[in-house]
Amino acid sequence: MALVNIHYLNLQNNYLFADIAKKVNAFKVMHPKADVISLGIGDVTQPLCPAVIEAMHKAVDEMATTNGFRGYGPEQGYDFLREAIVKNDFAPRGVRLSADEIFINDGAKSDTGNFQELLHWDNFIGVTDPIYPVYIDSNVMIGRCGTYREGRWTNVRYMPTVAENGFIPELPKGRPVDVIYLCYPNNPTGTVITKQELRRWVNYALKNDALILFDAAYHAYIQDPEIPHSIYEIRGARKCAVEFRSFSKTAGFTGVRCGYTVVPKEVSVATFEGERIPLHQLWLRRQSTKFNGTSYISQRAAEAIYSPDGKQQVQETIDYYMQNARRMLDVLRASGFECYGGENAPYIWMRTPNGMGSWQFFEALLYGTQVVCTPGVGFGPSGEGYVRFTAFSSHERTEEALGRITKWASK
Ligand SMILES: *Cc1c(COP(=O)(O)O)cnc(C)c1O
Repeated sequence: MALVNIHYLNLQNNYLFADIAKKVNAFKVMHPKADVISLGIGDVTQPLCPAVIEAMHKAVDEMATTNGFRGYGPEQGYDFLREAIVKNDFAPRGVRLSADEIFINDGAKSDTGNFQELLHWDNFIGVTDPIYPVYIDSNVMIGRCGTYREGRWTNVRYMPTVAENGFIPELPKGRPVDVIYLCYPNNPTGTVITKQELRRWVNYALKNDALILFDAAYHAYIQDPEIPHSIYEIRGARKCAVEFRSFSKTAGFTGVRCGYTVVPKEVSVATFEGERIPLHQLWLRRQSTKFNGTSYISQRAAEAIYSPDGKQQVQETIDYYMQNARRMLDVLRASGFECYGGENAPYIWMRTPNGMGSWQFFEALLYGTQVVCTPGVGFGPSGEGYVRFTAFSSHERTEEALGRITKWASK
């Protein structure tokens, strides 16, 4: 008899964005002529930049020739890309990594979800709350989170980031956390972490022999020069942290698929006997068994964002989205809404007015303005009473949405 992995049955029924789509579709069925604007799901809208398109065309042409054809690539990704990453993403920030500490992947979602399988099933995990749902769900799938009661998993340490604490999570008290997920700039709150605050987390991890899984998917949106882009800007992080990066939000690769994970040689975890096992060796073993690489075409596309033209073009698109973010902050605040984030990240995190629930506000906004946001509670219990807006739409659609919201709010 084939038995099911019962942990899957513990998962909360729906993926957040499937729930939202269902509600939006119900609205559209009732209002077929309505012009719905989505500032909900965190997907980009602007096309790939010319340097990337050119590199992809070239790679396709190479694949059409006997000499240029590529089959399976190297396990960790092509050298040309790993070297470009080390040289452009890290060296200028004073971070020294070697190319073989970089693992190219098909985007950060897979690795942020998969990395936990290198760890013993009863590690105690901690997450800032609200957070990208993949971290918790992937741990639920392996049975690490306990049971779900009143919106929380019993074996997860939630570290609230809310307006009341300035979106600065407190270090865990009591039972030490073994594995900590941090995402900065943060999805969904759009807030960032200073070097000083990040240093406290690295020191906590070193002191408690914990592992930090650091998701820097939005680093390219940082405007403030004092804000760290990588956890390796903090001394000691090479011993206790793995970092996930993605070209999805940096360069519009959500449909192309390419990202990477940094696993330094020094970061290790323990056996019960106290032996140290380097995670680098385990991740390489895991990837060579379960992953067959990212396409050559995607890797050439990613390499192109580090060319002089590519850098400039990618920056223009980021600036374009950040202009939206600034407009959203200005207009929503002028309408009396309490907003956070949006200065170093493409997300605006807005408190719902009059203590409305996240879903209640989501529906009111949809029916009142035909604008779609994301209910904050979908990202964790501390997200209740907030909604998220993305800055990834076009200028025109963003202005249209803001105009409708302003009018609606003044009623
Ligand atoms: C979008 C996003 C990612 C990246 O996903 P990809 O699989 O690379 O497209 C990773 N982490 C967070 C927090 C994200 O919002």
